[in-house]
Amino acid sequence: MAQEKMKKGKVYLVGAGPGEPDLITIRGMQIIGLADCIIYDKLVNPALLEFARSGAEIIHTPKRQTENSFTQQQINEVMVEKALEGKIVVRLKGGDPWIFSRGPEEAKILKQAGIDFEIVPGVTAGIAAAEYAGLMLSERSLSSQIIFITGQEAAGKEESGIDWDLLAKFRGTLVFYMVVTSLELIVQRLIENGLDSATPAAVVANATLPTQVIVKSKLGELFGKCTEKKIEPPAIIFIGKAVGSDWDFNWFMKKPLFGKNIVLTRDSRGNSEFSTKIIRAGGNPISFETFRIHPLTGSTEFLDALTSIAEYDWVIFTSANGVDVFFKCIYDLKKDARILGHSKIAAVGATTKERLACYGISADFVPDVYTSKQLAVQLINFTSLHGKKVLLLRSELADEDLDKVLGEGGAQINRLDVYTAAAAETETKFMMEELENKQIDCITFTSPSCVKYFFEKLELSLVLSSGAKIASIGPVTSEALKKAGAKIDIEAATHTIDGLLEAMESVYKK
Ligand code: SAH
Repeated sequence: MAQEKMKKGKVYLVGAGPGEPDLITIRGMQIIGLADCIIYDKLVNPALLEFARSGAEIIHTPKRQTENSFTQQQINEVMVEKALEGKIVVRLKGGDPWIFSRGPEEAKILKQAGIDFEIVPGVTAGIAAAEYAGLMLSERSLSSQIIFITGQEAAGKEESGIDWDLLAKFRGTLVFYMVVTSLELIVQRLIENGLDSATPAAVVANATLPTQVIVKSKLGELFGKCTEKKIEPPAIIFIGKAVGSDWDFNWFMKKPLFGKNIVLTRDSRGNSEFSTKIIRAGGNPISFETFRIHPLTGSTEFLDALTSIAEYDWVIFTSANGVDVFFKCIYDLKKDARILGHSKIAAVGATTKERLACYGISADFVPDVYTSKQLAVQLINFTSLHGKKVLLLRSELADEDLDKVLGEGGAQINRLDVYTAAAAETETKFMMEELENKQIDCITFTSPSCVKYFFEKLELSLVLSSGAKIASIGPVTSEALKKAGAKIDIEAATHTIDGLLEAMESVYKK
């Protein structure tokens, strides 16, 4: 009775998609955000855990090879235990939870325990791999049928659940999952059963990720070619006429940043925003957090300035971080954007302008070259600041260019440092090894702070000898790089993250 009265939780079996985090469904993403507890598999991209709410319990359940590996029984037990505690549990599974997975077994356990559950579909690897490799599965003249098969049964079971004779006769496309250890056997069984060894075939490994590899050949040569290329799991085999089509639909691996290892050197929020864009461009982002932002909005100067903020003719924001820190402070004080209602607002560039817009503020002025010096020069040309009161909200580490030029323009400036930065405690061993092994293609810098803190952690000589390209967001950052002794290979024409991406893409396109 007592048991029945207890609030029971609920389990969502959620498909995480094949690898690229954006390929999860909207429903999947929303449910991750609701979960009290997320239990996830090896094939799930950990980037998806960023959608989890803070405080959610995250349990990783690798099945093999690690000290903390879980048996299926243990996974079932944790899932049931958490749900019986009344929690919303997300069981996050690679691809689709109903395709060659223990999804149905887990659902049986939940049913037996009387626990409510829902299933959220995901994009299965067999479909995504074909699409990201530009291989056709069905096409009117080449294939009217598709079969999904698990390769894991090829070796093991005495009485195989696979109709090899039928597959050998099949005129459509065969899609084998879980194939790396049984590849030779799969090919052998099909050929023994009469499938022509010249049938077109392909293997796609790490599909949808920057490490995606494709091997295309005749069926009879597939094993040899995959051994040569050292194909590792996870991989899918495609076999059939449609796979052999001459059409070159491989759009993904032709992206200019495809497969490039790109280091991001901002603070954690900045790196995470930049990562998403690099992934969409086909690159492999490697986040190296160089500094942390520390608000200075608790100072008496800042709080005093807030009480008389309506007296300022202009309020100037020089970075998106400054905007975030400012609004966090005024929201904590139970105030809102109306506090800026009496002043004109200037932003140093597009990113700062966009961040202001997130808080409901439309900037009155943005220079067309996004540097603080140009902000001052162009603002003075835009409007007379003679005798005007200007509140400058900026980083403690910023140079004096802006103050100087505005002062020369006759403005009465109150400069307030709203945040400062300090080195982040980032582990450097991994990055040093990657640089030593020449695994890094490009290191990006988006502000002088990134440069300062990066080279405090890593030797210039290591960076220079690694062969990595150096990409800078604009002249101010480039200046800091030159001072640090680095050479600049790429400089953005528009000084935003998108501008930097564009510059990198055009260099790698060549
Ligand atoms: N439920 C999953 C399949 C799990 S079985 C789904 O719907 O996709 C695990 C197998 O899926 C792997 O052995 C491999 O064959 C395939 N797989 C999963 N992710 C893959 C990827 N990114 N690239 C290629 N194959 C993948």
